Amino acid sequence: MITGAILIGREEAHTQASYAAINPATVETLEPRFTTAGLAEVERACALADDASIAFANAEPETRAVFLETIADEIVGIGEPLIERAMAETGLPRARIEGERGRTAGQLRLFAQVLREGSWAGLTIDPALPERAPLPRPDLRVRKVALGPVVVFGASNFPLAFSVAGGDTASAFAAGCPVIVKGHSAHPGTGELVARAIQRAVALCHLPEGVFSYLPATREAGTALVADHRVKAVGFTGSRPGGMALMRTAASRPEPIPVYAEMSSINPVVLFPAALAARAEALGAAFVGSLTMGAGQFCTNPGLVIAIDGPDLQTFLASASAAMGGSAAQDMLTPGIHAAYVEGVSALAGHGAIATLARGVEPTGPHQAQGALFRTTAADFLADPSLGAEVFGSSSLVITVTDMAEALKVIAALEGQLTATLILDAEDEADAALLLPVLERKVGRILVNGWPTGVEVCHAMVHGGPFPSTSDGRTTSVGASAIERFLRPVCYQNMPSALLPEGLRDGNPWNAPRRIDGVLKLG
Ligand code: NAP
Repeated sequence: MITGAILIGREEAHTQASYAAINPATVETLEPRFTTAGLAEVERACALADDASIAFANAEPETRAVFLETIADEIVGIGEPLIERAMAETGLPRARIEGERGRTAGQLRLFAQVLREGSWAGLTIDPALPERAPLPRPDLRVRKVALGPVVVFGASNFPLAFSVAGGDTASAFAAGCPVIVKGHSAHPGTGELVARAIQRAVALCHLPEGVFSYLPATREAGTALVADHRVKAVGFTGSRPGGMALMRTAASRPEPIPVYAEMSSINPVVLFPAALAARAEALGAAFVGSLTMGAGQFCTNPGLVIAIDGPDLQTFLASASAAMGGSAAQDMLTPGIHAAYVEGVSALAGHGAIATLARGVEPTGPHQAQGALFRTTAADFLADPSLGAEVFGSSSLVITVTDMAEALKVIAALEGQLTATLILDAEDEADAALLLPVLERKVGRILVNGWPTGVEVCHAMVHGGPFPSTSDGRTTSVGASAIERFLRPVCYQNMPSALLPEGLRDGNPWNAPRRIDGVLKLG
C-alpha cells in the first residue's frame, strides 16, 4: 500500500511538507500526497544505519545472499500494483516496466550469486617466511570489507532498475553496506512500494532495522545525507549539475567520501566506410530506432554519429531522416526533463554551424519529446566544445569528417563517455584499429555492430567511463563488479587464527577462491 510515508528502519514517519506525484502523460495528479524527509529524519536514518553497519558488514555472505533474493521475491510479489503505479508515474509502457522489474530482480539475484562465489572478498594470503634472509616475511592476509552506510540517489529514467532497489542499492547491500535511499521525486509511489518490499525483506531475514531507510527527501535533506559523518559513500544517477553538487559536498566534508555519480554521456557512433557502403539504408533506420526508443531517455543514447562524408553517408542520412520524420512524439519522464530537452534541441537548432536534418512528429501532449536529427562538420564541432553537451532525449548530431584522421581528432576532443559504437565490416578493421587506443581512454564500453542502448547485467559489463560520464571511471554501476565501489581492503599481519576473519583462516572455511603465495586457488 502507498501511504506517502517516509520509512526509517522499521518505522514510518510523516512530516508537514507534502507534494503529489503527477502522471507526465496526462498531467493528472496522483494520490496520495507524499511527505518529504527533513533534517530530523536524516539524523534518525543515519544513526540507525551506523548502528547496523558492523553487524551487516560481518554477516555471513550467505545471509546477505538470501537477503538479496528475498528482496527480489518481495518486489516481484507486489505484482500488478507496482507495474501500474510505475507506468502512471513515468509514462513508460507496460512492456518496458515489466522488463525493468525482471532486470531489477535479476540483478539482485546476480549479487547473491556473486556473494556465494566468493571472489568479491579478494581473499589473499602470503604465508610467513620465517627463514627468509636477510629479513623474515610476516604472515599477511587481506580481505575486502564494507565501507559503511551508503546513500543512493535513484535515477528518474529507470524507476526500478536504477532506483530504490536498483544496481547501486543491490551492490552496496552485497558489499555489506546499509543503504539510505534518497527517493526520486518523479516516482514516489513506485519508490515507496519497492522500499516497503526491502523493509519486509529486512524483517524476514532478521537483519538490523538500520540496514535500510527510504527518505523521499528534499534536496537539502539529500545534501545533508551526503554531508553526514556516518555516511561513507554515495551512489548517484542523474544530471551533471546534480552529481557535481553532491561531489562538492562529499569532497568538502572533514572526512571526504567517494561519490559514484553517473551523469552525462553522448555515446559516439562511428560509421566506417565499408559498412556504410554495404548497408547505409538499413543502418539509418536502425540508428533512429535506438535513438528514439523510450523517448531517448537512456544514458547510453547515441547522441553523436561520426562518418566520412560522401554518397553512402547521404543514403544513411536520407534513411535516418525518413525514420526520424515518422517517429512519434513520446511522453518524457518529468516536466523538468522535457524542459531541458526542449532547451537543448533549441540551442542546437539555432546554432549557426548546425543544420537540422529532420524532426519527429509534432507533439500533442504537454511533455512529449519531438525527436531531432542535426548535422555539422568536424571543423565546426571542434571549434565549439558546447556542441558535445548531452541533450537528454531523442536528439543526435551527425558530424561529417573528411577521413579517419579527422574522425580521430573529433574523438580525441570528446569528453569521457559511457560507450562508443563501431559500425564496421571486415574491410574496416584496420581503420577501427587506429581508433581503438584513443577510444579506450575515452569510454567504458566499446561495442561493434550493435546499438549502445541496452545494458546487459552480467559479470563482464562496464557501465562507467571517464568524467563526466561518471565521477570515477575506474568502476562500473552495472554488473557484478559494481560491488567493488563499496569495499576496501584490510590487511591482517601476524594475526592469531582465532582473531582472523573466518574467510582468511587456514582450511578455507568459506571454501572461497583465495590467492595463496601468489597462486589462485579456486577453493
Ligand atoms: P537530477 O535533477 O540530477 O536529479 C537526480 C537526483 O538528485 C534527484 O533525487 C534530485 O532530487 C537530486 N538532486 C539533483 N540536484 C541536486 C542538488 N543540487 N542537490 C541535492 N540533490 C540534488 O536528474 P533527473 O531528475 O534524473 O534528470 C534531469 C537530467 O539529468 C536530465 O535532463 C538529464 O540531463 C540527466 N540524466 C542523465 C542520465 C544519465 O544517465 N546520463 C540519467 C538520468 C538523467 P529531486 O528528486 O528533488 O529532484
